[in-house]
Amino acid sequence: MTYEMIHSYKRKLKCLLTFVLFLLFISGFSAYQTARQYTIYVDAGMPILTGQTKQTYTQVESYTLPCTYVYDDELYTDERIVFQESTPGTKEVTVLSTYYNGTQEDQVILDSRILVEATPEIIHIGTKSRPLYTAPLDTLDISSYFGFRWNRLHEGVDFATPVGSNVYAAADGTIIRAETYGGYGLCIDIRHENGNITRYGHLSTAKVTVGDYVSQGDLIALSGNTGQSTGPHLHFEIRINDTAQNPLDYL
Ligand SMILES: [Zn+2]
Repeated sequence: MTYEMIHSYKRKLKCLLTFVLFLLFISGFSAYQTARQYTIYVDAGMPILTGQTKQTYTQVESYTLPCTYVYDDELYTDERIVFQESTPGTKEVTVLSTYYNGTQEDQVILDSRILVEATPEIIHIGTKSRPLYTAPLDTLDISSYFGFRWNRLHEGVDFATPVGSNVYAAADGTIIRAETYGGYGLCIDIRHENGNITRYGHLSTAKVTVGDYVSQGDLIALSGNTGQSTGPHLHFEIRINDTAQNPLDYL
């Protein structure tokens, strides 16, 4: 191999290296172009090259709506009823994201289009206060009012009803009597949280025993014609501080 041949070979190698460097530069430059902006930050005296890129993309997302509450004067304050279940919807969202060194830094929603409408859960919240006492029978057919009768205080109200009618607790409370009690015949007394007592007389069957806790509207007995009674009826009393009140003022 002559000196000229070696020299020519070296020149060819130089050309090749220059070309490779050129390719590297081009690829670097195109990478540079994907970044809108380059900033030199100085950290501990060393310059760090930081690139910002922006990217726009469209995607389909599911979404939900917040629950809707409706105040309803048809419902009691302790009642909440779901009137409609929630269903998710879908929307097409176009987003512009800004990245710094591959980490998302900012996101702007450019456009949003609903594909399927979501429906919110709708809950009705009651506003009506629950009556302290509810009717002890399904139908109230008054046969004798509270008050003086033949010079004696009739301490409750009588509701005519066939023997075997359902008798319900007028309010939450604890059974303190479930026995035959003088002229009341088979009698149930319930003591309520406020200390008041409701009394149910002339029953045929007790469905509860002393110590049971009952809720308003629970079946406690079947009506009858026991004790001092001139026909099938329910005698119903409300006693406050052991003094009988007119039940019709409370029902
Ligand atoms: Zn009576």
